[in-house]
Amino acid sequence: LGGHPKPQSAPMKPSGVKRILAVGSGKGGVGKSTVSANLAVALARQGRKVGLLDADIYGPSQPRMMGVSGRPASPDGTTIEPLHAHGVTVMSIGLMVEERKAVVWRGPMLMGALQQMLGQVNWGELDVLIVDLPPGTGDVQLTLCTKAELSGAIVVSTPQDVALLDARKALDLFDTLKTPVLGLIENMSFFTCPDCGGTHHIFGNGGVAAEAKDLGLPLLGALPIDLETRLAGDSGTPIAAGEGVMAEAYARIAKGLVE
Ligand code: ADP
Repeated sequence: LGGHPKPQSAPMKPSGVKRILAVGSGKGGVGKSTVSANLAVALARQGRKVGLLDADIYGPSQPRMMGVSGRPASPDGTTIEPLHAHGVTVMSIGLMVEERKAVVWRGPMLMGALQQMLGQVNWGELDVLIVDLPPGTGDVQLTLCTKAELSGAIVVSTPQDVALLDARKALDLFDTLKTPVLGLIENMSFFTCPDCGGTHHIFGNGGVAAEAKDLGLPLLGALPIDLETRLAGDSGTPIAAGEGVMAEAYARIAKGLVE
Protein backbone atom coordinates (compact mmCIF):
# COMPACT_ATOMS: atom_id res chain seq x y z
CA LEU A 1 0.00 0.00 0.00
CA GLY A 2 2.94 2.33 0.51
CA GLY A 3 3.95 4.89 -2.11
CA HIS A 4 2.41 5.33 -5.50
CA PRO A 5 1.09 2.23 -7.24
CA LYS A 6 3.29 1.14 -10.12
CA PRO A 7 1.97 -0.46 -13.29
CA GLN A 8 2.94 -4.06 -14.04
CA SER A 9 2.42 -6.12 -17.13
CA ALA A 10 1.01 -9.23 -15.43
CA PRO A 11 -2.49 -10.44 -16.37
CA MET A 12 -5.07 -9.06 -14.02
CA LYS A 13 -7.66 -11.73 -13.33
CA PRO A 14 -7.28 -13.08 -9.78
CA SER A 15 -6.83 -16.86 -9.90
CA GLY A 16 -9.68 -17.74 -7.49
CA VAL A 17 -12.24 -15.62 -9.33
CA LYS A 18 -14.52 -17.52 -11.72
CA ARG A 19 -15.96 -14.55 -13.56
CA ILE A 20 -15.67 -10.80 -13.59
CA LEU A 21 -18.74 -8.76 -14.47
CA ALA A 22 -18.32 -5.05 -15.08
CA VAL A 23 -21.09 -2.53 -14.52
CA GLY A 24 -20.68 0.55 -16.68
CA SER A 25 -22.55 3.67 -17.70
CA GLY A 26 -22.10 6.45 -20.18
CA LYS A 27 -22.38 9.18 -17.63
CA GLY A 28 -22.32 9.62 -13.87
CA GLY A 29 -25.31 9.82 -11.57
CA VAL A 30 -27.47 7.27 -13.38
CA GLY A 31 -27.24 4.70 -10.59
CA LYS A 32 -24.37 2.50 -11.72
CA SER A 33 -22.94 2.18 -8.20
CA THR A 34 -26.37 1.59 -6.70
CA VAL A 35 -27.02 -1.20 -9.19
CA SER A 36 -23.54 -2.71 -8.63
CA ALA A 37 -23.96 -2.80 -4.85
CA ASN A 38 -27.48 -4.19 -5.00
CA LEU A 39 -26.65 -6.88 -7.54
CA ALA A 40 -23.66 -7.93 -5.42
CA VAL A 41 -25.84 -8.20 -2.31
CA ALA A 42 -28.63 -9.99 -4.20
CA LEU A 43 -26.18 -12.54 -5.61
CA ALA A 44 -24.70 -13.13 -2.16
CA ARG A 45 -28.20 -13.75 -0.79
CA GLN A 46 -28.63 -16.39 -3.49
CA GLY A 47 -25.64 -18.22 -2.09
CA ARG A 48 -23.00 -16.99 -4.52
CA LYS A 49 -19.53 -16.06 -3.39
CA VAL A 50 -19.41 -12.43 -4.47
CA GLY A 51 -16.82 -9.69 -4.56
CA LEU A 52 -17.42 -6.02 -5.30
CA LEU A 53 -14.58 -3.94 -6.66
CA ASP A 54 -15.20 -0.23 -6.73
CA ALA A 55 -13.05 0.95 -9.62
CA ASP A 56 -14.79 4.29 -9.89
CA ILE A 57 -11.52 6.08 -9.33
CA TYR A 58 -12.94 9.58 -9.48
CA GLY A 59 -16.05 9.05 -7.37
CA PRO A 60 -15.79 5.87 -5.32
CA SER A 61 -19.12 5.42 -3.57
CA GLN A 62 -19.05 1.78 -2.46
CA PRO A 63 -17.58 2.43 1.01
CA ARG A 64 -20.65 4.53 1.79
CA MET A 65 -23.16 2.32 -0.03
CA MET A 66 -21.89 -0.92 1.48
CA GLY A 67 -21.18 0.68 4.86
CA VAL A 68 -17.48 -0.16 5.05
CA SER A 69 -14.71 2.11 6.25
CA GLY A 70 -11.13 2.02 7.44
CA ARG A 71 -7.94 1.36 5.58
CA PRO A 72 -7.65 -2.27 4.45
CA ALA A 73 -4.96 -4.18 6.34
CA SER A 74 -1.84 -5.47 4.69
CA PRO A 75 -0.13 -7.71 7.24
CA ASP A 76 2.72 -8.74 4.93
CA GLY A 77 3.00 -5.39 3.13
CA THR A 78 1.96 -6.97 -0.19
CA THR A 79 -1.37 -8.74 0.17
CA ILE A 80 -4.28 -6.40 0.83
CA GLU A 81 -7.11 -7.75 2.96
CA PRO A 82 -10.51 -6.72 1.59
CA LEU A 83 -13.45 -5.78 3.80
CA HIS A 84 -16.71 -7.70 4.16
CA ALA A 85 -20.28 -6.42 4.30
CA HIS A 86 -23.72 -7.89 3.64
CA GLY A 87 -22.13 -11.18 2.58
CA VAL A 88 -19.94 -9.46 -0.02
CA THR A 89 -16.16 -9.10 -0.17
CA VAL A 90 -15.50 -5.42 -0.84
CA MET A 91 -12.56 -3.38 -2.03
CA SER A 92 -12.65 0.23 -3.12
CA ILE A 93 -10.12 2.71 -4.31
CA GLY A 94 -11.99 4.96 -1.88
CA LEU A 95 -10.58 2.94 1.02
CA MET A 96 -7.05 3.66 -0.16
CA VAL A 97 -7.42 7.41 -0.44
CA GLU A 98 -8.94 9.88 2.00
CA GLU A 99 -12.63 10.49 1.36
CA ARG A 100 -12.32 14.24 1.02
CA LYS A 101 -9.21 14.20 -1.16
CA ALA A 102 -9.58 14.44 -4.93
CA VAL A 103 -7.77 11.79 -6.96
CA VAL A 104 -5.47 13.42 -9.48
CA TRP A 105 -3.64 10.33 -10.69
CA ARG A 106 -2.33 10.06 -14.21
CA GLY A 107 -2.92 7.03 -16.43
CA PRO A 108 0.00 4.83 -15.31
CA MET A 109 -0.74 5.40 -11.62
CA LEU A 110 -4.35 4.59 -12.23
CA MET A 111 -3.40 1.36 -13.91
CA GLY A 112 -1.11 0.53 -11.01
CA ALA A 113 -3.94 1.07 -8.55
CA LEU A 114 -6.26 -1.12 -10.62
CA GLN A 115 -3.67 -3.86 -10.82
CA GLN A 116 -3.17 -3.67 -7.07
CA MET A 117 -6.88 -3.96 -6.46
CA LEU A 118 -7.18 -7.00 -8.68
CA GLY A 119 -3.83 -8.68 -8.13
CA GLN A 120 -2.88 -7.90 -4.54
CA VAL A 121 -6.27 -8.02 -2.86
CA ASN A 122 -6.96 -11.33 -1.18
CA TRP A 123 -10.25 -11.99 -3.04
CA GLY A 124 -10.19 -15.70 -2.22
CA GLU A 125 -12.56 -17.96 -4.14
CA LEU A 126 -15.35 -16.03 -5.83
CA ASP A 127 -18.14 -17.09 -8.16
CA VAL A 128 -18.37 -13.56 -9.41
CA LEU A 129 -16.51 -10.30 -8.97
CA ILE A 130 -18.62 -7.27 -9.81
CA VAL A 131 -16.64 -4.25 -10.92
CA ASP A 132 -18.23 -0.83 -10.51
CA LEU A 133 -16.56 1.07 -13.36
CA PRO A 134 -16.07 4.81 -13.58
CA PRO A 135 -18.60 6.43 -15.93
CA GLY A 136 -17.62 6.88 -19.55
CA THR A 137 -15.05 5.22 -21.73
CA GLY A 138 -11.64 5.93 -20.24
CA ASP A 139 -8.40 4.20 -19.24
CA VAL A 140 -9.96 2.00 -16.58
CA GLN A 141 -12.46 0.43 -18.99
CA LEU A 142 -9.77 -0.01 -21.60
CA THR A 143 -7.37 -1.74 -19.23
CA LEU A 144 -9.97 -3.96 -17.61
CA CYS A 145 -11.45 -5.08 -20.92
CA THR A 146 -8.09 -5.87 -22.45
CA LYS A 147 -6.30 -7.37 -19.42
CA ALA A 148 -8.80 -8.67 -16.90
CA GLU A 149 -10.72 -11.23 -19.01
CA LEU A 150 -14.15 -9.80 -18.28
CA SER A 151 -16.92 -12.38 -18.63
CA GLY A 152 -19.38 -9.66 -19.43
CA ALA A 153 -20.57 -6.14 -18.91
CA ILE A 154 -23.86 -4.55 -17.93
CA VAL A 155 -24.69 -1.00 -18.93
CA VAL A 156 -26.90 1.15 -16.71
CA SER A 157 -28.71 4.15 -18.13
CA THR A 158 -31.67 6.36 -17.37
CA PRO A 159 -34.21 6.77 -20.20
CA GLN A 160 -33.03 10.35 -20.67
CA ASP A 161 -31.66 11.16 -24.15
CA VAL A 162 -28.30 12.50 -22.97
CA ALA A 163 -27.69 9.49 -20.76
CA LEU A 164 -28.64 7.14 -23.57
CA LEU A 165 -26.38 8.89 -26.01
CA ASP A 166 -23.45 8.34 -23.65
CA ALA A 167 -24.57 4.79 -22.87
CA ARG A 168 -24.31 4.04 -26.58
CA LYS A 169 -20.64 5.07 -26.46
CA ALA A 170 -20.02 2.75 -23.52
CA LEU A 171 -21.72 -0.09 -25.42
CA ASP A 172 -19.62 0.71 -28.44
CA LEU A 173 -16.43 0.49 -26.39
CA PHE A 174 -17.36 -2.94 -25.00
CA ASP A 175 -18.17 -4.05 -28.52
CA THR A 176 -14.83 -2.80 -29.87
CA LEU A 177 -12.96 -4.51 -27.03
CA LYS A 178 -14.91 -7.73 -27.55
CA THR A 179 -16.39 -7.74 -24.05
CA PRO A 180 -19.82 -9.39 -24.24
CA VAL A 181 -22.60 -7.11 -23.05
CA LEU A 182 -25.07 -9.13 -20.98
CA GLY A 183 -27.73 -6.47 -21.21
CA LEU A 184 -28.96 -3.04 -20.23
CA ILE A 185 -30.61 -1.85 -17.06
CA GLU A 186 -32.96 1.10 -17.17
CA ASN A 187 -32.67 2.90 -13.84
CA MET A 188 -34.91 5.74 -12.68
CA SER A 189 -37.33 4.37 -15.22
CA PHE A 190 -40.49 5.75 -13.65
CA PHE A 191 -41.84 7.18 -10.41
CA THR A 192 -45.00 6.02 -8.71
CA CYS A 193 -46.47 8.90 -6.75
CA PRO A 194 -47.25 7.78 -3.19
CA ASP A 195 -50.03 10.39 -3.00
CA CYS A 196 -51.94 9.97 -6.27
CA GLY A 197 -50.71 6.49 -7.20
CA GLY A 198 -49.96 7.70 -10.74
CA THR A 199 -46.88 6.66 -12.70
CA HIS A 200 -44.64 9.48 -13.93
CA HIS A 201 -41.83 9.07 -16.45
CA ILE A 202 -39.56 11.77 -15.11
CA PHE A 203 -36.55 11.02 -17.33
CA GLY A 204 -38.53 9.89 -20.36
CA ASN A 205 -40.29 6.69 -21.26
CA GLY A 206 -38.92 3.44 -22.59
CA GLY A 207 -35.68 4.83 -24.06
CA VAL A 208 -33.44 2.07 -22.76
CA ALA A 209 -35.87 -0.67 -23.75
CA ALA A 210 -35.94 0.71 -27.29
CA GLU A 211 -32.15 0.93 -27.37
CA ALA A 212 -31.82 -2.66 -26.14
CA LYS A 213 -34.23 -3.84 -28.82
CA ASP A 214 -32.35 -1.89 -31.45
CA LEU A 215 -29.07 -3.51 -30.46
CA GLY A 216 -30.53 -6.96 -29.96
CA LEU A 217 -29.52 -6.93 -26.28
CA PRO A 218 -31.66 -8.01 -23.32
CA LEU A 219 -33.23 -5.38 -21.10
CA LEU A 220 -32.31 -6.92 -17.74
CA GLY A 221 -34.61 -4.70 -15.71
CA ALA A 222 -36.41 -1.39 -15.40
CA LEU A 223 -36.03 0.03 -11.90
CA PRO A 224 -38.14 2.90 -10.57
CA ILE A 225 -37.04 6.10 -8.89
CA ASP A 226 -37.41 4.98 -5.33
CA LEU A 227 -36.82 6.94 -2.15
CA GLU A 228 -36.04 3.81 -0.13
CA THR A 229 -33.35 2.81 -2.62
CA ARG A 230 -31.65 6.18 -2.19
CA LEU A 231 -31.96 6.14 1.61
CA ALA A 232 -30.67 2.56 1.80
CA GLY A 233 -27.66 3.47 -0.35
CA ASP A 234 -26.83 6.42 1.86
CA SER A 235 -27.18 4.35 5.01
CA GLY A 236 -24.71 1.65 3.99
CA THR A 237 -27.27 -1.17 3.75
CA PRO A 238 -28.35 -1.61 0.12
CA ILE A 239 -32.08 -2.08 -0.45
CA ALA A 240 -31.41 -5.59 -1.79
CA ALA A 241 -30.34 -6.64 1.73
CA GLY A 242 -33.92 -6.22 2.96
CA GLU A 243 -37.36 -7.36 1.89
CA GLY A 244 -39.84 -5.79 -0.51
CA VAL A 245 -40.42 -5.12 -4.20
CA MET A 246 -37.02 -3.51 -4.84
CA ALA A 247 -35.15 -6.37 -3.17
CA GLU A 248 -37.22 -8.77 -5.29
CA ALA A 249 -36.46 -6.80 -8.46
CA TYR A 250 -32.73 -6.98 -7.79
CA ALA A 251 -33.00 -10.68 -6.92
CA ARG A 252 -34.66 -11.32 -10.30
CA ILE A 253 -31.95 -9.48 -12.23
CA ALA A 254 -29.20 -11.19 -10.21
CA LYS A 255 -30.65 -14.63 -10.85
CA GLY A 256 -30.44 -14.16 -14.60
CA LEU A 257 -26.81 -13.07 -14.44
CA VAL A 258 -25.03 -16.14 -13.14
CA GLU A 259 -27.13 -19.04 -14.35
P1 ADP B 1 -23.52 6.50 -10.50
O1 ADP B 1 -22.74 5.37 -9.92
O2 ADP B 1 -24.07 6.21 -11.85
O3 ADP B 1 -22.79 7.82 -10.44
P2 ADP B 1 -25.12 6.35 -8.09
O4 ADP B 1 -25.44 4.90 -7.96
O5 ADP B 1 -24.04 6.91 -7.22
O6 ADP B 1 -24.84 6.72 -9.61
O7 ADP B 1 -26.49 7.13 -7.89
C1 ADP B 1 -26.55 8.53 -7.84
C2 ADP B 1 -27.57 8.94 -6.79
O8 ADP B 1 -28.87 8.53 -7.18
C3 ADP B 1 -27.32 8.30 -5.43
O9 ADP B 1 -27.66 9.21 -4.42
C4 ADP B 1 -28.28 7.11 -5.40
O10 ADP B 1 -28.70 6.78 -4.09
C5 ADP B 1 -29.43 7.65 -6.20
N1 ADP B 1 -30.16 6.60 -6.93
C6 ADP B 1 -29.67 5.66 -7.77
N2 ADP B 1 -30.64 4.88 -8.27
C7 ADP B 1 -31.79 5.35 -7.72
C8 ADP B 1 -33.17 4.96 -7.83
N3 ADP B 1 -33.56 3.96 -8.61
N4 ADP B 1 -34.07 5.68 -7.12
C9 ADP B 1 -33.70 6.70 -6.32
N5 ADP B 1 -32.44 7.11 -6.18
C10 ADP B 1 -31.49 6.44 -6.87
